[in-house]
Amino acid sequence: MTGVNEQHIIIVGGGMTGGLLAVLLAEAGLRVTVLDGAPVPVMPTGDAQLRVSTLTEASYWLLRNTGVWDCLDPGRVQPYSAMQVWDQDGTGEVCFSAEEAGAETLGWLLENGHLTAALYQRAQALPNLDWRCGAAVEGARRGETGWDVICGNERLQADLLVGADGARSQVRDWAGISGGASDSGHHALVATIGTALPHGGCARQVFMESGPLALLPLYSDPAQGEQRQCSIVWSGWPERIRELQQCDAARFAMELQASVADTLGEVTLLSERAVFPIQPRHASQYVAAGLALVGDAAHVIHPLAGQGVNLGLLDAAVLAEEVRQACEKGLGCADAHALARYQRRRRGENLVMQNAMRGFQQLFEQRALPLRWLRNAGMRMVNQGGPVKGFFVNRALGRSADLPVLARAPHLAKNSG
Ligand SMILES: Cc1cc2nc3c(=O)[nH]c(=O)nc-3n(C[C@H](O)[C@H](O)[C@H](O)COP(=O)(O)OP(=O)(O)OC[C@H]3O[C@@H](n4cnc5c(N)ncnc54)[C@H](O)[C@@H]3O)c2cc1C
Repeated sequence: MTGVNEQHIIIVGGGMTGGLLAVLLAEAGLRVTVLDGAPVPVMPTGDAQLRVSTLTEASYWLLRNTGVWDCLDPGRVQPYSAMQVWDQDGTGEVCFSAEEAGAETLGWLLENGHLTAALYQRAQALPNLDWRCGAAVEGARRGETGWDVICGNERLQADLLVGADGARSQVRDWAGISGGASDSGHHALVATIGTALPHGGCARQVFMESGPLALLPLYSDPAQGEQRQCSIVWSGWPERIRELQQCDAARFAMELQASVADTLGEVTLLSERAVFPIQPRHASQYVAAGLALVGDAAHVIHPLAGQGVNLGLLDAAVLAEEVRQACEKGLGCADAHALARYQRRRRGENLVMQNAMRGFQQLFEQRALPLRWLRNAGMRMVNQGGPVKGFFVNRALGRSADLPVLARAPHLAKNSG
């Protein structure tokens, strides 16, 4: 049997979740290999990429505390200090501000490719981390003492195999774990737009009967002017989204402007329009003998609250915390109790968030007048403040009772023991 120090962890998938997990485990002194089928991630330049993510305070601290944040290009990171959510069908509106949350900012918006490139750059400084690109994994089989992983002509051995290979995870299939796919009945259209009025560092979302539309503040592009670019995520019924993807740019801009009630003045489409089906999933289990799933491989939620990758980063941090502690006790990186604790700490949290997203989607699809009245009255009540508003603000910031130490601000991490 290999000693704890020589044990080997293979992570399939070097996206945002797998990348962070690799850095965390390598920083803890463990031997890690990342295998990813995609090319080497490079720092973006020029126009904003279409795929972006909002990051919570918890994700920010994870990236700060691991040195990944310092690898980002600050000019391409946009903090936002306000959020405005309203119902197109009524008078209900909720506004959150960083000030009332006692925080400097409510979140940050950055391109997914930018974060992956920063993770890759950080990984280069960790000698016990071997991050291979263009390395698609073709199969994995549980052997007597660990996992045999097939990648090209190579057969690698892992004491712990981690599936961070996204929604269509093959690692999940190879482990015989059910992916629990469902259909939200929504597709999501993403694009970059220019706006006549500055976004003012505010993330906006309007709920319509056909689905939610988010206007997320992008970093300033000198060609567009100060704060005059947003990334949009427009979710809705597939026919509606197809129509929005195929209509001409002028009609698209007009429909968009009308849907957000001219909030940012005239809008211009600056990019192509890409569409993604939204198929929420939840793996029946996150762990098996010598194996764990993280991020979208374990759960996919509706993007309406911008929480998907934030949950994945917390999975990575909790798994790394449990594995590190097991190794420090000499139990090994694939200790069954450590893996079970990881599942216990994350699965419930992620299920709550997934169900909340389903609930929001269903609530805003309701046409019945009493329900519409109730939902608008509810939004106005939340907006007045109090514990319910505090609950939503804390969720938006990624604050929860069981945060891993590295996801807390340093002064809070010290107090937690
Ligand atoms: C429209 C839209 C908007 C969203 N907005 C937000 C948001 O604002 N905030 C937020 O938190 N979340 C958001 N999300 C969710 C977020 O994008 C995902 O949760 C996140 O990308 C998942 O990251 P991941 O690393 O788990 O998986 P992925 O990003 O899917 O990465 C998987 C990696 O595995 C690799 N891979 C796959 N198979 C193999 C194999 N066999 N061998 C080797 N490598 C393999 C791939 O190349 C890839 O690099 C959004 C999602 C959508 C659809």
